[in-house]
Amino acid sequence: MLHADRATLPALDPGDPASLDDLLTDDEKAVRASVRQMLDRSAEPFIAEWFERGGIPNIRELTKELGALGVLGMHLEGYGCAGMSATEYGVACLEIEATDSGLRSLVSVQGSLAMFAIWRWGSEQQKQEWLPRMAAGEAIGCFGLTEPDAGSDPGSMRTRARKDGSDWVLDGRKMWISNAPYADVAIVWANTDDGVRGFIVPSDTPGFSAPEIKHKLSLRASATGELVLDNVRLPESAVLPEARGLKGPLSCLNEARYGIVWGALGAARSSLEAARRYALDRVQFGKPIAAFQLTQQKLADMSLEYIKGYLLAVHLGRRKDAGLLRPEQVSIGKLNNVREALEICRTARTVLGANGISLEYPVIRHQNNLESVLTYEGTVEMHTLVLGQALTGHAAFR
Ligand SMILES: Cc1cc2nc3c(=O)[nH]c(=O)nc-3n(C[C@H](O)[C@H](O)[C@H](O)COP(=O)(O)OP(=O)(O)OC[C@H]3O[C@@H](n4cnc5c(N)ncnc54)[C@H](O)[C@@H]3O)c2cc1C
Repeated sequence: MLHADRATLPALDPGDPASLDDLLTDDEKAVRASVRQMLDRSAEPFIAEWFERGGIPNIRELTKELGALGVLGMHLEGYGCAGMSATEYGVACLEIEATDSGLRSLVSVQGSLAMFAIWRWGSEQQKQEWLPRMAAGEAIGCFGLTEPDAGSDPGSMRTRARKDGSDWVLDGRKMWISNAPYADVAIVWANTDDGVRGFIVPSDTPGFSAPEIKHKLSLRASATGELVLDNVRLPESAVLPEARGLKGPLSCLNEARYGIVWGALGAARSSLEAARRYALDRVQFGKPIAAFQLTQQKLADMSLEYIKGYLLAVHLGRRKDAGLLRPEQVSIGKLNNVREALEICRTARTVLGANGISLEYPVIRHQNNLESVLTYEGTVEMHTLVLGQALTGHAAFR
C-alpha cells in the first residue's frame, strides 16, 4: 500500500474537493471543454436575459451551433450523429445544464426524445430523411406524449389515430411539449386500434398547430407548447413502423432521463460554486460569511450531495456504455440527482441572501428551472414507485 506524505499529495481544488475529475478520461474532458467553450461564447452571457424575456431570440442559429458542436443526437450512431459514448453525452448534458436547464431540455428533447424515437423505431427512409438535418440543428424536433388529462399515466391518452384508406388521421391534444412552438417536426404518440403508435408529424401539416404556453415561471428559456391535432392526415410512411405500445415512448424517455441524471448536476454545480464564491466575498459581522460555521455546514452539505450525485452519474454512465443500464437504475439516478440538485439550489439561494433571488446570479434561475425537471420525464413520485417496486416486487402505481 502507498503511504503518501501529505506534503507530496496533489493540492486540493476547492472547486472539486473530492477530485472527481480523475473519474473522467481525456476524451470526456475534451468534450467538456469544447461544450463549455461554445456555451461561454454563445449562451452564458445572454442566458439571464433569455430567461427574463421568456425565450431565446436566435433559437435557430443557436440550435445550428449546438448541431455543429455535435451534441444533438450525440450518443447515436450514423446519420450525421456524433456517435459518442453515453458518458461523453452525460458530461455534455452536465455542462449545458450548468448554463441552463432550458438549454439542456432543448438538447435532450431533440436528441434523446425526437431523434432517438426515429433512430430506434423509424424506417430507413425516415432516418435518412430526418436524422441528418436534426443532428445538424437544421430541423428542430419535439415529442408529444403528455396530454391535459394524461401525465404520469400516459396509457390513458385520448389522442387517436385512425386508418382512412392508406392514410392515418390524427385527432387530439398534447400539453406541455418542449420545443413545440418552433419545432419543424413532432413525434406524436396516439392510440390506435392496435395500441399506442408513434407518428412523425411535420409542423406544416394541415390541422396541426403548436400554440405556446405562456406565464411559466420555470424553464423560461425553453419554449413549451400545446400540440393541437385537428383532423391531421398523414401518409402510411409517417408511422414509426417498429414501435408498438407504450414501450415506444418509454424507451425514449429512458434515454432523456439518463441525460437528466447528469444535467441536473450542472445546475447544482453552478449554484454551489456561486454560493461558495459569494460566501467568500460577502462580509458581515466583520468576517466573510464563509468563515461562519453555519455557512460552512451549508457548503459542506451541498458539496457532499453533489459528490454523491456525480459518483452515481459516472457509475450509471459506465453501465450504459457497457450496455448494462436498466431503466430502474436510470430512475434511481433521476430521482436522486434532480431532488438533491434542487435542494442544493435552495440552500445556495439562502447563502446569497437577498441577492439569491436576483437574476444577476444564476441560483434562483436554476432553482426555478429544476422545479420543472423534478416533474418532467417522470415525477419524483413515479421514480420512487419504480424503485419501490424494484425493492419489493410490488407495483404501487394504481
Ligand atoms: C416545462 C415542462 C416541459 C415538459 N416537456 C414535455 C415534453 O416535451 N413532452 C411531453 O410529452 N411532456 C412534457 N412535459 C410533461 C411532463 O412530462 C408531465 O408534466 C409529467 O409527466 C407529469 O404529468 P402531470 O403534470 O400531468 O402530473 P400528474 O400526472 O397529474 O401528477 C400530479 C401529481 O400527482 C402525483 N401522482 C400521479 N399519479 C400518482 C400515483 N400513482 N401515486 C402517487 N402520486 C401520483 C404526481 O407524481 C404528481 O406529484 C413537460 C412538463 C413541463 C413542466
